[in-house]
Amino acid sequence: MGVTNEPPRDPSTCPECEFRQDRHPTGRNGHVLLEHQRHLPARDIPAGHHWLVRPDGTAINIPGAELPADTRYRFPHRLVCPCGTPPSTPALKALWDHNSGLTAHFNRPAAESG
Ligand SMILES: [Zn+2]
Repeated sequence: MGVTNEPPRDPSTCPECEFRQDRHPTGRNGHVLLEHQRHLPARDIPAGHHWLVRPDGTAINIPGAELPADTRYRFPHRLVCPCGTPPSTPALKALWDHNSGLTAHFNRPAAESG
């Protein structure tokens, strides 16, 4: 009869890996699922995937490729979901490895010199 005692699915978990994500409204009648409590410098995140979360909880996508290097941004979980393909940037790959259970701790690689 369509009645279930199952609790509603937590919208803040990834449907693929079931890891926790941080769900934020975008202010455009949508939501974005950001990697849980992770921030990385701009250079570690591909262009178009930089997010800032306002004090009211609204997430704002920051466009552009040249962002202040000292600002740390949020990024979508899907970039580091262990059910997806490994990312190409070293920091995201290290976090993907961590999420995949390949490493016990996430240690962001040191910035490449040059
Ligand atoms: Zn996932």
